[in-house]
Amino acid sequence: MALDGNAIGGLLLEVFAADMTSALATCATCGAVRPVAETTVYLRAPGTVVRCRTCTSVLMVISRVRGLNCVDLTGLLALQAEANK
Ligand SMILES: [Zn+2]
Repeated sequence: MALDGNAIGGLLLEVFAADMTSALATCATCGAVRPVAETTVYLRAPGTVVRCRTCTSVLMVISRVRGLNCVDLTGLLALQAEANK
């Protein structure tokens, strides 16, 4: 079942120590820029997989290894937190 980025707000807060749901994610594949809250999220893949809603490319993979969150951001060209926060 696909969720949206709001579903991993708590997880992202743990990883980035900031509310990232309003951050702007730029897809490295198609260049689409959207708030993280509007991405497509799959929780049942190995780890948490965040995909671009425009082209379905993988943007982020967050997996838990021995109690640590391992974050793969290679699908992101940029991840920009809101400047006014
Ligand atoms: Zn894309």
